[in-house]
Amino acid sequence: MLFGQLEKLNRESMLVDPEIARQITAKVLHLIQTQEKTRKEIMSKGSSGMEVILATLEVINAKNRAHMIGVFVSKGGTGILLQLVISASKESPPSEEVMLQLHSVLAKVGPKDRKFGVKARLNGALNVTVNLLKQNLQNHKLLLPCLLVLQVCLPSAVNAVSLGKNGVVELMFKIIGPYSKKNTSLLKVSLDTLGALLKSKTNARRAVVHVPVLLYIYHDWHRNDTCHRHILIRKGILGCLKNITNIKLGRKAFIDADGMRILYNTSTECLPVRTLDPLINTSSLIMRKCFPKNRLPLPTIKSVFHHQLLRVPAGGPVAQLYNQPLGVDDVVDESDDNEDAEAENEVEEKDHHAGNDDIETDINKLRPKETHSRPFEELKIYERFFMELSEDFQVLNFDNPKRGVTATPAAPKSHRQIIVPTAQALPLKNHTAAPLQGECPHPATVPPLDLDTINITKDQDGCGDHTHSRPHPGAGLEQELVQGLERVALDGAGPQGGGGGVNKHNRQSPILAAGVAARLGGEGEEMLAEEWVPDTALLLPLHDPDLYVEMVKSTCSVPQFSEVAYPDYFGHVAPTFREHILERVYGVQRTKIFQDIERLIHPNDILDKVVYDLDIQSCPVIDGGESLKFNSQFESGNLRKAVQVRKFEYDLVLNSDINSNHYHQWFYFEVSGMRVGAPYRFNIINCEKSNSQFNYGMQVLMYSVQEAISGRPRWVRTGTDICYYKNHFSRSSIAAGGQKGKSYYTMTFSMTFNHKDDVCYFAYHYPYTYSTLKMHLQKLEALRTPQTYLREDVLCETLGGNSCPLLTITAMPESTSNDQICQFRNRPLVFLSSRVHPGETNASWVMKGTLEFLMGSSPLAQSLREAYIFKIVPMLNPDGVVNGNHRCSLSGEDLNRQWQNPSPELHPTIYHTKSLLQYLAAIQRAPLVFCDYHGHSRKKNVFMYGCSLKETVWETNISATSCELHEDLGYRTLPKILSQMAPAFSMASCSFVVERSKEATARVVVWREIGVQRSYTMESTLCGCDQGKYKGLQIGTRELEEMGAQFCVALLRLKRQTSPLKLRNHAHLLDVESDLMETRCKVSSNPSTYLLEDEEQSFMEEVDYSAESGDEPDNDPNTADNHLSDSESNKHRDSLT
Ligand SMILES: [Zn+2]
Repeated sequence: MLFGQLEKLNRESMLVDPEIARQITAKVLHLIQTQEKTRKEIMSKGSSGMEVILATLEVINAKNRAHMIGVFVSKGGTGILLQLVISASKESPPSEEVMLQLHSVLAKVGPKDRKFGVKARLNGALNVTVNLLKQNLQNHKLLLPCLLVLQVCLPSAVNAVSLGKNGVVELMFKIIGPYSKKNTSLLKVSLDTLGALLKSKTNARRAVVHVPVLLYIYHDWHRNDTCHRHILIRKGILGCLKNITNIKLGRKAFIDADGMRILYNTSTECLPVRTLDPLINTSSLIMRKCFPKNRLPLPTIKSVFHHQLLRVPAGGPVAQLYNQPLGVDDVVDESDDNEDAEAENEVEEKDHHAGNDDIETDINKLRPKETHSRPFEELKIYERFFMELSEDFQVLNFDNPKRGVTATPAAPKSHRQIIVPTAQALPLKNHTAAPLQGECPHPATVPPLDLDTINITKDQDGCGDHTHSRPHPGAGLEQELVQGLERVALDGAGPQGGGGGVNKHNRQSPILAAGVAARLGGEGEEMLAEEWVPDTALLLPLHDPDLYVEMVKSTCSVPQFSEVAYPDYFGHVAPTFREHILERVYGVQRTKIFQDIERLIHPNDILDKVVYDLDIQSCPVIDGGESLKFNSQFESGNLRKAVQVRKFEYDLVLNSDINSNHYHQWFYFEVSGMRVGAPYRFNIINCEKSNSQFNYGMQVLMYSVQEAISGRPRWVRTGTDICYYKNHFSRSSIAAGGQKGKSYYTMTFSMTFNHKDDVCYFAYHYPYTYSTLKMHLQKLEALRTPQTYLREDVLCETLGGNSCPLLTITAMPESTSNDQICQFRNRPLVFLSSRVHPGETNASWVMKGTLEFLMGSSPLAQSLREAYIFKIVPMLNPDGVVNGNHRCSLSGEDLNRQWQNPSPELHPTIYHTKSLLQYLAAIQRAPLVFCDYHGHSRKKNVFMYGCSLKETVWETNISATSCELHEDLGYRTLPKILSQMAPAFSMASCSFVVERSKEATARVVVWREIGVQRSYTMESTLCGCDQGKYKGLQIGTRELEEMGAQFCVALLRLKRQTSPLKLRNHAHLLDVESDLMETRCKVSSNPSTYLLEDEEQSFMEEVDYSAESGDEPDNDPNTADNHLSDSESNKHRDSLT
């Protein structure tokens, strides 16, 4: 009767009442459990009762299946079925038909019951199934559903272990076998079951002895399954191997059984068939895992160079680094012996989720810090950096442009000879004269004035006449900048073709010219050579090679660099062609990994020849022509070692940040001695980040000297087959934050050189050295107009003995009247800084754009200067930049994590920059805007991080008090303006959430301790844009500089917003500004209308907290374009972590 009801119920399945189902199943269970009679009845009466249930479920299969099974499970249906298994097993012999049916049903119902595995084990049904398997190994019809039931139970680790103990692993190996067309579905299920069992390490250990069998079977299937009908079986076998090789014994067994060769060969044969990709990918994964871990080819991972700190804080990173016992090998440690694979995966997953855990939840840390930690008496010494706040101009001579300038002369600290260009640049006529040999690593001993080397100290008289070649016919710098965007290509014409520059070579070093002539084939005509020398001055108003060399002389580097890299010397003229984000070619990573595996398969092909090595006193001598020559002994260079692996392949090792043992990402090095047309492959083998934009279209930068002297002095995006992947070099836990079993990553790219006897430079991003900054600052000062107030102070000395410049830029007062002086002193302050992270050179290019705009002669720039006093620290970490660091200063620390409590001895630039801000806060003049420019390695576009109490609270779902928090939304104004005018800027990427891990950064500390509401980090991509006008393009210096200029224009708009009454005073500027922005905004014909709309609507800060940031309603029709791209970039969330 009950079953009848169930049957009836089922027919009405669409209208089923769950309560009825529960009652029925409960009754069934009750009867089965309590009434022996009923149980017997079920079993004896030809199982009619059970058949009803089974039939029921069969019907469920047909209609409304998911729902009905769900109801069945929720009402305890699986329990009933498992009980039936137990009951049925008590018959002897058990009815095969019943078991078959029961298991078929269980295999279908089980997956819907999360506790199925536990239930099956606890009530004993699991054992029944296993015994059934053991007794029916030949009964394929029965095996199949039983195996399926096992699979359902296997996600439970306890079950897996218990099944292993019960001999099920061995059982599976009895079922699976060599190639056969029979019973392929059974084989497939057995392999999947085995694969699931082997996820348990205990079971994997049991299966180690079977590794050769699995390899044999795999090879057998590979050979015979020529039509690829059984890819799933082949994949199943690989899945088992994959899990066994998670343990060290498994990897050893795999290697011993010649697994590398078998999988390598089979994979190679699979390569032409695209449908076999899953097999190749799994094979490659197994091979990478089993690839014996190598040590980096280094004696130590500590930086080659050591800088002795005056005070080494105990427990600090430097103390830890150098307090290791002597003789400890820090390159590898015992961590490789650990069974790491699974643990590592778990760790990586944790990393992945760290983003959410990182949000600050302590409300007290989100509120302004009230107490000023330092007494005003102590801060008073910083008054001298703010002369403009007390200047009375009573003795002012307005015609004297030097007024206000206190630029410190750069006093050369050493009298090192500076060699330009780099020594290896030229073909060596006489090997014994090669400066290489004596030069490394003590270049100071190089004999000067080889034909190959240019001793610039002899060259002073050649550079007396700079000024003639700087025509500035009235145009403001920012206008030039904008015009530059539309400039025609220089290719072919060369910069000389740009306008009478051909004859202006008297500024070139004659000795350099001779050197170039020698390089060009030894013809020796200086005249010829001169014509080839690029004159970048016309296009680069802030560049001057001779001045650059002068600047290098006063730059202090730990390695005592004495060479100058060509690109920094010649300068970089941004190319006018578009550089698209590289489309990734299918299978690149796989190909590269297979080439790496070949090192193991064909060891005889491997040269392993060291061609560059900073760790030994004399770098290896290179024999003629067979190897590339490397060098990186110049400012910002950081190549440590180069090993020729194959004829055209090199492994490159980067130096750690000084006084550190890691942070490898930035690179800058020189290559020469290349063969034209040869396919070179370069591998940087000690990268640390787990992913990189190199996997998403970013290319490396290359500068060819041959191109430069042919009139194209520029960095270009280059390289093919670029990818970034985990390699087989093990990373010591000492350098991995204590995490064991980590590997390094390889960044690989291929390159074919176009010119014979070229000297090429490769860099992570457009280099921008400290000497370049000093050069730019000098040139800017020379370009200053009488209306500009510019002061350059030395904020402090760095640990390495370099000075940290502080700029003050504003407009001179219009007169010495009280009103004007008062207006002058009371202008709001804007505080900018950049390049705290040396590897983020893009930040310096943005800063260059800002400085050039600010110092320009346009009405807009003048108006900006009249609106604000700018305080700028353009390079917060000169030492890091000079020495080729990626992240740190000479203290071995990330300076942007020291803002909470900077030490005057260890972090002087941060300490004093913070003091300036503290001083300003103390005199009630905290800046209106603080912004620290950075570069972002894993995201596209330019964007800002700000600080918002409300948005942070909202993110964390702290319910308490959030409605009582009052916050001005002004922090969103500047990024919003930028998103409307700067094409590279993306509002969608901005975030205003305060993270715990950032509590000691400039942005958060200035916000919280100084009380600057508009405190930002502006991040520029290293790669390119995925929205806006530059969508699909890699970013270049032109776009970065433009960003810096746009930042200034945005500040002007912000000014109008914060003080709308001033607007009328600047009405004459409207035309200029709209001209400047015309390319981006569809400005209406009446500029004043445009601006008024602007004022009233577009920047109203109505933040909808329920929406994505960046999805705010925007009524300004002028920004419709931006709006579109914003929403697009929302879709394209960067998948990187
Ligand atoms: Zn940074």
